[in-house]
Amino acid sequence: MKSRFQVVMKTVLAAAAVTLFAGATGETVIHADNVKNETYDRVMKTDRMNWGVKGDTKLMGLMNIKSGKLEGFDVDMAKEVTKRINPDAKVEYTQITSGTRVPMLLNGNIDAIIATMSVTPERQKVVDFSDPYFDAGQSIMVKNSSKYHNVKDLNTPKARVLAVQGSTSIDEIKDFAPKSKVVGLQDYATALTALKAGQGDALTTDNGILYGMAAGSKNLEVRGGTFTNEPYGVAMKKKNPKLVKAVNKAIKDIKSDGTYAKMVQKWFGSVKGMDWKELAK
Ligand code: GLU
Repeated sequence: MKSRFQVVMKTVLAAAAVTLFAGATGETVIHADNVKNETYDRVMKTDRMNWGVKGDTKLMGLMNIKSGKLEGFDVDMAKEVTKRINPDAKVEYTQITSGTRVPMLLNGNIDAIIATMSVTPERQKVVDFSDPYFDAGQSIMVKNSSKYHNVKDLNTPKARVLAVQGSTSIDEIKDFAPKSKVVGLQDYATALTALKAGQGDALTTDNGILYGMAAGSKNLEVRGGTFTNEPYGVAMKKKNPKLVKAVNKAIKDIKSDGTYAKMVQKWFGSVKGMDWKELAK
């Protein structure tokens, strides 16, 4: 029979081994649960999948105040992907912003992010992405009367450019118009209000998001074309290979069975400036 001391020592040593392993891989916490219990298994077992989506981004993820429901391309994608992973699963949505989405995912508040999120090498250090499911590109939106016509025009200390914290757009604009004064805001609703109120000369983010905003306002326009490539991916917590595989398969099926083209036409078919047929390819 083992002495109490031996048992305690064994436990202490096992704990130390886990800690050492954790230190070597640079991870903060490694729970045995995380390895065994992937998000995928939980989605299959609980019949629920919780998606982080935008709530203030018309065409992609917008809270419809009348119906109390979220709607947009990303919202529909979440529904279609979930259906293909687990047909019995209830689709749940949590509203996130560009700045809160990754912390919410890492904290376990949501199972995956589908929210106009570009796949970038920087982000890939923190989360895993699905294959890209949508091609966007960064552009600018100004008032009709604006003297700024493209991103190059904004490269002056006189130009105040509005962007949202936690977006790639805020970093990119600093590269493309380094002399401009960039103002980082909390979310797109706030940024749009600021532009309308004349607190900025331009708002910069992806073309689809900007077209959604411009559609609701007669005196705003998207100008100058796109100056970056923004491939959107579903973001998931690392160490979830089963979920990544299932999401990729779902995206592939959504594209090949015609659902994708229908969704693109539904949301972008009548948006001037967006070539939905090209997008649907
Ligand atoms: N696609 C860009 C990004 O991932 C801008 C849109 C957004 O803020 O979500 O950051």
